[in-house]
Amino acid sequence: TPEAANELLMKIWAPAVKRANEEVAEMTEYAKAEGKDITIKPWDYYYYAEKVRTKKYNLDENEVSAYFSLDNVRKGIFTLAEKLYGVKFTEMPDAPKYNPEVTVYDVTDIKSGEHVAVFMTDYFPRATKRQGAWMDELKGSSVDPDGTVERPIIFNVGNFTRPTSDTPALLTLDEVETMFHEFGHGLHGMLSRAKLRSQSGTNVDRDFVELPSQITEHWAMEPELLKDFAFHYKTGEMIPNELVEKLQAASTHNQGFTTTELAGASLLDLAWGAYKPADGETVDVDAFEKQVAEKLGMPSEIAYRYRSPYFKHVFGSDGYASGYYTYLWAEVLDADGFELFAEKGIFDPETARSFKENILEMGGSEDPMKLFVRFRGHEPSVDALLRNRGLI
Ligand SMILES: [Zn+2]
Repeated sequence: TPEAANELLMKIWAPAVKRANEEVAEMTEYAKAEGKDITIKPWDYYYYAEKVRTKKYNLDENEVSAYFSLDNVRKGIFTLAEKLYGVKFTEMPDAPKYNPEVTVYDVTDIKSGEHVAVFMTDYFPRATKRQGAWMDELKGSSVDPDGTVERPIIFNVGNFTRPTSDTPALLTLDEVETMFHEFGHGLHGMLSRAKLRSQSGTNVDRDFVELPSQITEHWAMEPELLKDFAFHYKTGEMIPNELVEKLQAASTHNQGFTTTELAGASLLDLAWGAYKPADGETVDVDAFEKQVAEKLGMPSEIAYRYRSPYFKHVFGSDGYASGYYTYLWAEVLDADGFELFAEKGIFDPETARSFKENILEMGGSEDPMKLFVRFRGHEPSVDALLRNRGLI
């Protein structure tokens, strides 16, 4: 309901704004130390947030990327699937493919040897490819009424940096997370055991679909998995602990801003959805946005992530209208869900089995809240998200 969505967002809003105010104080301090007596404005935010980040964490993106060649990260996601869900990826060099750059894998169950899915990766930009990264299926899975089992063909697409003559494709941290994210959607598709094709894999409610993808991102920076794949492309050396610690510390940097922006966009979206103009009334978009910002107590240093006229989620189609909150809602689910793994061990077999059987295999064949509770043992709470973003 709109009330439940609003209530959820407001629980996140207050601690996010509090942190944003602290960030602004830190940035003002930084500017002052540089001899600039300024008030931070929305257009200063990225600039000073970067300055503070460099000062606090001293992270060099190039140094980090050297440990994340595309092939290594792909090994990382396959190791993850092997350890958690007991499936193995074997390349099929002679399999038919829609482009020579695609790599095709036979996915099999390690114990039984049974065929589970075909998985394709298509990671580099081409002139005819659209931007971004995504997962999709060439063929869905089902169990037909006569008992015939159809296994799926799933693919992951990306637009990652190409290799050069002397350097392999090296991924940025964002790109590493993207690969894990799309692979999480991929697993949802590959491991599905739902009977109906219309309910299998990622054919679930929109505010549930990002759980498998977002939860998978959590493993990307876990030392226990990093030691299996994050090797320097030149020296072959494993990523040093010190660098991993820095990455983890830096991960909550600027979360006041990011969370306020995300929750603000969602709240504005919901406000538009609830707004009922009188017949023939002309809507003053500017005034409406200001009124919403005032009511929320939006910090003056932060602007709306999207101004309404180009907020495509709301006005581009009805697919995401009043649905922008689903990103944060999915994060409530993934953060809470991952805390179970964190408690029991990130490769705990019992927790992994439960996630596989209750979430990944079920698709949309049952009510998502029931599925979540069966896996987690309770309904999701926002606390895990707030902890994960470093807001409490
Ligand atoms: Zn996604």
